[in-house]
Amino acid sequence: MRILTLLMVMTLSIPVIAAPLEYNLSAEKVALNTWFIEGKTEDFSFENGGNIVNTAFIVTNEGVVVLDTGVSRRYGEALHSLIRSITDKPIKLVVNTHQHPDHFLGNQAFDRAVIASLEHTRDQIRQNGDAFAENMYRLVGDWMRGTEVVVPEKVIEPGMMEMGGHRLEWIELTGHSGSDLVLYDHTTGVLFPFDMVFYQRALTTPHTPGLNQWRSEIQQLRQIPFRIMLPGHGPKVTDHRALDQMSDYLSWLDETLKSSAEAGMSMTEVMALPIPSRFGSVALRQAEFERSVVHLYPEYEVAVFDH
Ligand SMILES: [Zn+2]
Repeated sequence: MRILTLLMVMTLSIPVIAAPLEYNLSAEKVALNTWFIEGKTEDFSFENGGNIVNTAFIVTNEGVVVLDTGVSRRYGEALHSLIRSITDKPIKLVVNTHQHPDHFLGNQAFDRAVIASLEHTRDQIRQNGDAFAENMYRLVGDWMRGTEVVVPEKVIEPGMMEMGGHRLEWIELTGHSGSDLVLYDHTTGVLFPFDMVFYQRALTTPHTPGLNQWRSEIQQLRQIPFRIMLPGHGPKVTDHRALDQMSDYLSWLDETLKSSAEAGMSMTEVMALPIPSRFGSVALRQAEFERSVVHLYPEYEVAVFDH
């Protein structure tokens, strides 16, 4: 008996050999000079190291444009070496598309003098960046080691930018996070809506100015004659199916919250409502629906009360 106990103690105390924390990023060439790095459609976890975001880069004649830097210093470094394995052109511009941590916490891997965002995004990162980083440490742990917030030094002005043979149009929207950059590359026909569009992965709402606002900006994106669209989360598409899913989900969410508030339902009751089967292919639909109820339902209740 005593030996058995001893054996058990010995077994338990054998150190667990940790797997190296490597993202193993790979880039897919999706159009002329355009590379796409697709993340998982999962929630942040230690298992995925927060690799749940899409990033991309364009290799122009003048140099590389990097579109988002990922969730951690380690991700940024992996992205940097991936770019270096494809081109030795200088990195001319590194863009943070909005304030969310999975889009800018890899900034340290790049020259800070070329990191840019919309002006309002820069203010948001300055204000919220540390809190976001702390939260990421809590969610993915050791993957974040050494990660610090680097606030973008440059401001991107909405409008046209000619760069190394590419005509890049920067568009400022607000629906997802209050300040959301969209890029349309007129040269290749690639549309980068970033987190304005989630596809096959439920959208997140902690900083939306309102579902109607977001929905009307999705209508705006429909006017762009893109050939391929690379969402911020989820797979690429060559047609309007991602926009259709966004409009459909935003409408359903808005109507559900509105009618629930009118019926006087509690937050818990709303969370228990069924999600229509047509969203059955959307990852994290239940978890994000519940989070959206927490974020948004109080305002819908106030609107009914004021009525
Ligand atoms: Zn986001």
